[in-house]
Amino acid sequence: MSTRKPLIAGNWKMNLNHLEAIALVQKLAFALPAKYFDKVDVTVIPPFTDIRSVQTVIDGDKLLLTYGAQDLSEHDSGAYTGEISGAFLAKLGCTYVVVGHSERRTLHAETDEVVLAKTKAALRHGLTPIVCIGEGLEIREAGGHVDYNIAQLKGSLAGLTAEEIGKTVIAYEPVWAIGTGRVASADDAQEVCAAVRGALAEIADADTAASVRVLYGGSVNAKNVGDIVGRTDVDGALVGGASLKPDEFATLSAIA
Ligand code: PEP
Repeated sequence: MSTRKPLIAGNWKMNLNHLEAIALVQKLAFALPAKYFDKVDVTVIPPFTDIRSVQTVIDGDKLLLTYGAQDLSEHDSGAYTGEISGAFLAKLGCTYVVVGHSERRTLHAETDEVVLAKTKAALRHGLTPIVCIGEGLEIREAGGHVDYNIAQLKGSLAGLTAEEIGKTVIAYEPVWAIGTGRVASADDAQEVCAAVRGALAEIADADTAASVRVLYGGSVNAKNVGDIVGRTDVDGALVGGASLKPDEFATLSAIA
């Protein structure tokens, strides 16, 4: 029996302005009473412009919900127009920051080196990086998915100490399952999450590997979450579309 507390993280992507964000968090507060937080951590990952508003609702109502950001700069300050520092996110009370989401790897050409630099920046500021990895459809169909994910994992964590790796969350998100409605089977999720844990034991140590939370992401909803999160090495979910529906997000969090 795992001692890892499941984590459900709702990635809103580029959806909801700050007023809509307030409304969603208020609905979530009703739908997900405090008692659920004994067994699951739940976080929302809004756009940068919503974070201050989300913080105000969560702090004001003393909610157990946490929040984070979808990205950060690898730099701490300076002439990086349009970038957001981890220092700013920490100051706003963020707990988590997503790094290396497949949409950033694809649309913004983020390499493992960039993801590693962002992971280090998150750790420097006391944020928990949710480090995303995941294969495309061609790799999955060719049967190369485990090797591909482990290479991405190792590249994205290269040179980190076991202590630093212990402060991360890993999210396995097959690209073909993100926003497509085509969810990986629970066996598929378990296969890669178990391989990730094995690789963490190799690059850090067995205790670290046993403590790091490994999430699955890709078309998770209230119907499929129980099966997926029920697997030994799957410690929660990174949820996109369903996190924009407060009742469904609360239901799937309660199931996890
Ligand atoms: C995501 O954006 O990380 C994600 C998993 O999206 P969806 O749940 O919509 O597939």
